[in-house]
Amino acid sequence: MKEKRKDLVEKLFNQGYINTEKVKEAMLKVPREEFMPPENSSYAYLDRPFPIGKGQTISAPHMVAIIAEKLELTDGMRILEIGTGLGYNAAVVAEIAGNEGHVYTIERIPALVEKSRENLNKTGYSDRVTVIEGDGTIGYPDKAPYDRIYGTASAPKIPEPLKKQLKIGGKLIMPMGSDYYQELVLVMRISDDDFQTRNLGGVVFVPMIGKHGWPENK
Ligand code: SAM
Repeated sequence: MKEKRKDLVEKLFNQGYINTEKVKEAMLKVPREEFMPPENSSYAYLDRPFPIGKGQTISAPHMVAIIAEKLELTDGMRILEIGTGLGYNAAVVAEIAGNEGHVYTIERIPALVEKSRENLNKTGYSDRVTVIEGDGTIGYPDKAPYDRIYGTASAPKIPEPLKKQLKIGGKLIMPMGSDYYQELVLVMRISDDDFQTRNLGGVVFVPMIGKHGWPENK
């Protein structure tokens, strides 16, 4: 598995998805196979998403790399993730943020909350990643403000509570758009009410369902 992980990371580097040593080291270290559903764990180093049950997916490694690079993470950051899934992306981000950093990640499906906690525990990330069950579109005010916020599900627009929970100077990344077309959007908070937005390109994600996202049975 380690050889396959090394080959995939090398490929993502050559394809330009990984650009920095810290993202490379983190993706070399975090065992994606431990976050996959057991029936597909032997495919952990194919660069593609896989079903994880309840209509959800584990993101493709290149998407995890893009988000980690564009967030420009540094040691000690406090980070909020919306959409834990089985916990892989959160573990990669936590690895980059180091021992002083912390990832708070929100998941709305209880079975995935439970499974992701197990995965993060067995891989040694449970001290640095806190999984919260609930609607991530309202954020997690208890630990705000955050240096970085990112979503791994797609919302019709950036949820206002998340913008409010971002530090001034902080960055937020989230897929935004309809069922058919979504863009990965980078938002930078310049001041209290000044936000700059940049489009990072087309993507495909599952919907973010919640108060400031899509309705349950869209
Ligand atoms: N981060 C995951 C990984 O490491 O592969 C990818 C997760 S999957 C693409 C998106 C997740 O977002 C799903 O598990 C889904 O249940 C969750 N989700 C959707 N809407 C949500 C919401 N409002 N709050 C929290 N989680 C949500």
